Amino acid sequence: NRQWYLHSRPEGVPNEDDIRARSVPLCRPGPGQVLMQNLFLSMDPGARFWMSDRPGYMEPIAIGETIRGSTLGRIVESNHPKFKVGDYAVGIACNGWEDYSLIDPELNEVVRADLGFPVNWHLSIFSAVGLTPYFGLLEIGKPKPGDTLLVSAAAGAVGSLAGQIGRIKGCRTVGIAGSDEKCRWIVDELGYDAAINYKTCGDMQQAIAEACPDGVDIYFDNVAGSILDAALLNMNNFGRIVFCGAISQYNTDDAVPGPYNYWQILARSLTVRGYIALEFRDRFPQAVEEMRGWIDSGELTFAEDIAEGFESTVATFARLFDGSNKGKLMVKIRDG
Ligand code: NDP
Repeated sequence: NRQWYLHSRPEGVPNEDDIRARSVPLCRPGPGQVLMQNLFLSMDPGARFWMSDRPGYMEPIAIGETIRGSTLGRIVESNHPKFKVGDYAVGIACNGWEDYSLIDPELNEVVRADLGFPVNWHLSIFSAVGLTPYFGLLEIGKPKPGDTLLVSAAAGAVGSLAGQIGRIKGCRTVGIAGSDEKCRWIVDELGYDAAINYKTCGDMQQAIAEACPDGVDIYFDNVAGSILDAALLNMNNFGRIVFCGAISQYNTDDAVPGPYNYWQILARSLTVRGYIALEFRDRFPQAVEEMRGWIDSGELTFAEDIAEGFESTVATFARLFDGSNKGKLMVKIRDG
């Protein structure tokens, strides 16, 4: 069983010194246990957080432990009534970057492969990653027709969907992304009304002001840092900040100063709420149904960015941090 495990805590973007491969004998499932052969590994920025020894919403990954992640696979042995051999199953943030996982039957769910879409969609649009923007925007952002919605990391898995859901709800949508190509893509293909390239726009506060002449009612924040600071100065009174992620800060263990414009939360009567998508787990099926409806009607589209091969995993993970992924990043480790 090949595994990627944490050899040392990374400083900066993880590489193959920090995360190393090993081969271990395959564990057989004991009573009540289930063995899954992984087909796809989900590449999620949050995993970088667990590689550091910092307090968070999950325990840090221990040195020597297999890297924790979301995977989709097929059941190869089962001693549990919930799973049959041959079933496809998905586990969110509870399986590992490895060929075979002894899975937790409570935290993994059987998914169907006969629903008219590729089975890997259960790890992208119809998984927690796809449902993160759904619940964040609708429950926290509370979009109303005519609102201006600003989204950072707008060409990524979460951001690409956040803007489209906002559009469906009648918002004017502005996305922030790290290349001209991504900016064109989110406007031309995803229906964003405007885009800002944060790497070339110069003064970010000014760029947001120009792209959002009526101010910002909802900021869907995936990155935090200086973009959040610039957004705070453009928020309308009673605006909502959906605090979904802080990717600009995941690769440092140092204390991060700011947001410097924190006072604007008070001055503009803003609501800022962080969340973990799994908080809404009980409502995932209903959300999947609604998202499926939008896809079928052509209102919602999304992109997957699928790298091939177990060996590519660490290099693929690093792409989340240089911005070279577009849409949901995954590693396909075998057919099945
Ligand atoms: P993405 O597919 O959006 O990939 C990450 C993107 O972030 C990159 O493509 C890059 O795009 C951008 N980025 C990387 N570094 C920086 C930086 N320093 N400043 C600005 N942008 C940067 O990943 P996901 O969609 O999976 O995740 C997006 C965010 O959502 C993350 O913060 C993640 O932790 C969070 N998240 C939160 C969840 C929750 O439950 N709250 C669940 C899932 C994800 P670019 O080219 O534009 O720079």
